[in-house]
Amino acid sequence: MTESLDVRTLLLVVAVVAALTAIGMASFARRFPRYPGIGWFAVADLMMAIGMLLVATRDHAPDWLTTVVANVFTLGGLMLNAEGLRRYAGGHWPWWSRPYVLFLLLLLASVWFTYVDPDVRVRILVFSGCAGLTLAAIAVVLHRSPAGGRLRPVVMAFAGFALWMAGRWLLTLLEAPMPSFMDAGAVHALTLVGYIVFVMAKDYGILRDSVGQALGEVAAQARTDPLTGLMNRLALAEAAAPALARARRSGSPLSLVLLDIDRFKQVNDVHGHAAGDAVLVGIAALLRGRLRAGDSCARLGGEEFLLLLPDTGEAQALQVAESLRVQVAASDVAGVGGCTASFGVSTGRGGADFDTLLREADRAMYAAKAAGRNRVVQA
Ligand code: GH3
Ligand code: MG
Ligand code: MG
Repeated sequence: MTESLDVRTLLLVVAVVAALTAIGMASFARRFPRYPGIGWFAVADLMMAIGMLLVATRDHAPDWLTTVVANVFTLGGLMLNAEGLRRYAGGHWPWWSRPYVLFLLLLLASVWFTYVDPDVRVRILVFSGCAGLTLAAIAVVLHRSPAGGRLRPVVMAFAGFALWMAGRWLLTLLEAPMPSFMDAGAVHALTLVGYIVFVMAKDYGILRDSVGQALGEVAAQARTDPLTGLMNRLALAEAAAPALARARRSGSPLSLVLLDIDRFKQVNDVHGHAAGDAVLVGIAALLRGRLRAGDSCARLGGEEFLLLLPDTGEAQALQVAESLRVQVAASDVAGVGGCTASFGVSTGRGGADFDTLLREADRAMYAAKAAGRNRVVQA
């Protein structure tokens, strides 16, 4: 096993993988600058790649470069992840999540055990200890951060690699001294494979999370009316599905109240579009204020609004519509003078589907318009 795992080759592979992930994270950060901290992951991976590359040049480059500088770069790479995560995940990141003092320890130990008392084993012990502590601290703080639940795969990457480092530390303690890191045993060679797993896991975890966040925002935007902040038709149809299924199971009624502002074109013509928009926002606020828990309200488009009232029969829905009609007529929304609306109410039981109920409410609303506006008609 040990003979077949060549340390120098593995070091080069880790360096290449970390350099590639650094490029990937950097291009992601450039393309999506709204996600803070991603650029730091690129720098972190690049530092690790440089550190690994320097170790790989051992026996071919001066020792200070392949031990002292290499160790500092590699540990620095691990630690800079905390800078990225602090920005990306938010929350409180205490000083010990970025224990820069470990650099001093690592620096002194690297110099001492390279030049004064050369000992590869002790250098590995110091490095594994520092790396393990850094990884563990980041895992703990990230787990506690507001995004800790969402970023569980990233927490696991840090915690898992910290545990590996702790195990490596113990095994190194029991190991016989080794002449050179290039002849290090399987544990150390496998640690290099661990770096690849760690880098890929943390970066993919972060990318997965940011893509998930972006999709969540897009999905929310696709279901929200930007002017009033109410649901749009798509969102209401989605909210209606479980309410209809419940109504079907329990046999309880479900009602729709559709309302259309009367002569709204005149509001725009007389007072301007901005005033018209203010009326729409005002009506939306009025409707929102009337909702009970479980009710939903959407702007279907233009000056039409729809209320979904689960567990509400004809009489109750008519009552709601009538009181809204009075409220709209009485209010001087946005100071454009009396503004009224016409209402259509439909109620379904058992097998009613959303589109049929909406069609019925629409027909009733047009009947209310035809009958002189500012009234409620039941389907
Ligand atoms: P009716 O009583 O028959 O409903 O007459 P109405 O004028 O309200 O109906 P109509 O369908 O003729 O006109 C609706 C108007 O609503 C036309 C359009 O300019 C206006 N409108 C639609 N969406 C918006 C919007 O987002 N903002 C503003 N300010 N006006 C809008
Ligand atoms: Mg209208
Ligand atoms: Mg209309």
